[in-house]
Amino acid sequence: MKRRELLGTAAALAAGLSPMTPPSARAQTPARFADADLRHAEKLRELGLADTQAWALLQQLCRDIGPRPAGSAADAKAVAWAQGALRGLKLQNVRAESLALRVWQRGPASATLVIPGAQKPGARAREQGLVMAALGNSVPTPPEGIDAEIAWYPDLAALQADDPATSRAKGRIVFIDQKMERTRTGSGYGAAVGARSMGPIEAARRGAVAVGIRSIGTDRAPIAHTGATRYDLSLPRIPAFAVSVPDAEVMAGLQAAGAPLRLKLRLEARNDVDATTHNVIAEVPGTDLKDEIVLISGHLDSWDLGQGAQDDGAGVAIASAAAGVLMAAGVAPRRTIRVVLFGNEENGFDGARAYGDRYKDVVHQMVGESDFGAGPVFQLNHRVQPAAVPLFEDIARVLAPLGVAWADGESRNRGGPGPDAALLMRRHRWPGVALGQDGTNYFDVHHTEHDTLDRIDPRTLPQNVACWAVTAWLAAQAPVAFGPPVL
Ligand SMILES: [Zn+2]
Repeated sequence: MKRRELLGTAAALAAGLSPMTPPSARAQTPARFADADLRHAEKLRELGLADTQAWALLQQLCRDIGPRPAGSAADAKAVAWAQGALRGLKLQNVRAESLALRVWQRGPASATLVIPGAQKPGARAREQGLVMAALGNSVPTPPEGIDAEIAWYPDLAALQADDPATSRAKGRIVFIDQKMERTRTGSGYGAAVGARSMGPIEAARRGAVAVGIRSIGTDRAPIAHTGATRYDLSLPRIPAFAVSVPDAEVMAGLQAAGAPLRLKLRLEARNDVDATTHNVIAEVPGTDLKDEIVLISGHLDSWDLGQGAQDDGAGVAIASAAAGVLMAAGVAPRRTIRVVLFGNEENGFDGARAYGDRYKDVVHQMVGESDFGAGPVFQLNHRVQPAAVPLFEDIARVLAPLGVAWADGESRNRGGPGPDAALLMRRHRWPGVALGQDGTNYFDVHHTEHDTLDRIDPRTLPQNVACWAVTAWLAAQAPVAFGPPVL
């Protein structure tokens, strides 16, 4: 071919079109990847499957640093560690971008159930300590604690249905026995987590003095699941806590037997501590479209109770190792592939917000986040502009040997990326890509002291690394913009 034709072909290829396509047919011709890009994606898939870095990084993060709530000394240590780890993977432009925030700090807490004796003379009340944890952002009790009767509700909907004007919650400690269903996609969490996030608001609206919930989790272990809760500043802020699932079941049994239960609650916490955290960033530099960003991510902070192995040490390790694979493969992408390890996902999304403010004018081809533990990826979905959807058929074909299927029907282009990425997708209309992991067991340990390294199966990490390396690469090479997404 002559030079002019070559250029024409390259331009057409870049637009995803055959040079022979007549103009009238172009709108209907779906964009496709270049064969060379698909072949490189297959190579990345194999390199990802051979990865050992993710497990090495996760071991370091869990063993050497452990729990790292945003703004803590351990968080600062994690920020320093992450930059070293990303440099070790030969990634470029490694940096930590600081942000100021106010953090919540847990203090000692206890809850004791007071169970009345049998209805006969001389019978004495019995006391039973509950396994519990304050919810993130909870205000403290007064120093002398709170001693009140329990107003028990089977779920959040029952509390919401209780007329505030006549509610039995007034002057009592509300207890919400919200159960969570175990599912592969984790959909049970979305259905149940309102009890945690909205419970204190709904209880305060009805005059309650504190609120307890059954842990939002799928285990039956004697552990409590923490997590962020919220207040409505026009209502009193009341102390909020979760009890273990077995203890909640004891309470449900006593409640069903008609026993009037009391609870003694003591809870210390601070929620006004000035602190600093960071987003840690590294890049695989792009070439002709280097100013456009393909963002893959995890969050560096964790709750304080475990090691943050699944949440989100795994995601940190997977996203970092995937970028390491892309770098090591030695072929520069068209767009810049950026790893972001967000600060304070767990209790306020400060990192994601700060990132969005800082880079709001930069084109983002994709935002994605690994934040669902270390289970294998089984599903690909996304939120992109309609013209970009056919490209995902190609991405799915490369991912298929890894056991990943392209979501079908309605859910295909209604994907929800990980939480920081989802916030950025909605706030900035940046296209989101989700690699859905098997979360069947994720909520057994989520936000608990059981979120430790020994609960991770190291064999599933390379599959995740391969999925992210392939997806990031093809997003970076795509002949059309993924955005703006259909939201
Ligand atoms: Zn997380």
